[in-house]
Amino acid sequence: MARTSLQCRECKKDYENGFKYICDECFGPLDVKYDFPAINKDTFSNREHSYWRYFELLPVESKSNIVSIDAGMTPLTKAENLGKKLGLNNLYIKNDSVNPTFSFKDRPAGVAVSKAKEFGLSAVGCASTGNLASATAAHAAKGGFPCHVFAPSNIEMAKIAQALSYGANYIAVDGTYDDANRIAAQIGDSKGIGIVNINMRSHYVEGSKTFSFEVAEQLDWKVPDQLIIPVGSGAMLNAICKGFEELQNVSLLDDVSNMHMIAAQPHGCAPIVDAFKKNSKEVIPVENPDTVAKS
Ligand SMILES: *Cc1c(COP(=O)(O)O)cnc(C)c1O
Ligand SMILES: [Zn+2]
Repeated sequence: MARTSLQCRECKKDYENGFKYICDECFGPLDVKYDFPAINKDTFSNREHSYWRYFELLPVESKSNIVSIDAGMTPLTKAENLGKKLGLNNLYIKNDSVNPTFSFKDRPAGVAVSKAKEFGLSAVGCASTGNLASATAAHAAKGGFPCHVFAPSNIEMAKIAQALSYGANYIAVDGTYDDANRIAAQIGDSKGIGIVNINMRSHYVEGSKTFSFEVAEQLDWKVPDQLIIPVGSGAMLNAICKGFEELQNVSLLDDVSNMHMIAAQPHGCAPIVDAFKKNSKEVIPVENPDTVAKS
């Protein structure tokens, strides 16, 4: 029996877990659903120093399919001086810049590439302007996959140099990042390539949950009062919420419903924060972002 299945976030239709990310009935996104085994704090305590220590809470069925470059278990550093300045006695910063490819994207990319191996796919890729390309390419190199990075043709080469150094193939798309995304989606579906942030998205986002697991374990299985999360599409924030709820479901954490999630976006590109402030469900894309926080 498989430990995981897929479920439509909108109409709740269930599917067997497979290379699939959209509901046949309503086109809603599919989320991974688990049949969790009995777990307690000791389950994880003597395991490897990477996010794969939480194997039972991740969507890979067989450990033999794990493609790991030892990402995760990054420091949760107490920021004494910044905390004092802000009037906070217990301010912590999760330093994901010390991951192997220098960003938190090693979490979702590693889970997606592992799942691509489990599905028996022959190649992986992503649409990215930087961090994700590096993380996907590094895991592809480790797993022995060709890796195709779709990005606008006018991208500064500095942004994909790291991915190229891991052996990735750069597909230059004449157009915007959105155009690169569309082309990657079409080619991924027609050629059976695992595009980590598109057709592997249901599994990709599960990697971001490991943030929640590590923070909870590093706080000795206590629920933080507030979490401040940088937001692009909101996928990571949503996954982190799911992670904390799952820890509550397996009884590793007490009630998480009083934890406050705070979405942070830069002033020059804040579509989700703006919609939230207007109490609107419609997120209006920003045509001309004006910020140094390009991701
Ligand atoms: C990917 C990423 C995020 C989160 O993006 P979401 O689309 O909200 O998941 C935040 N900051 C940086 C620097 C990123 O690369
Ligand atoms: Zn549906």
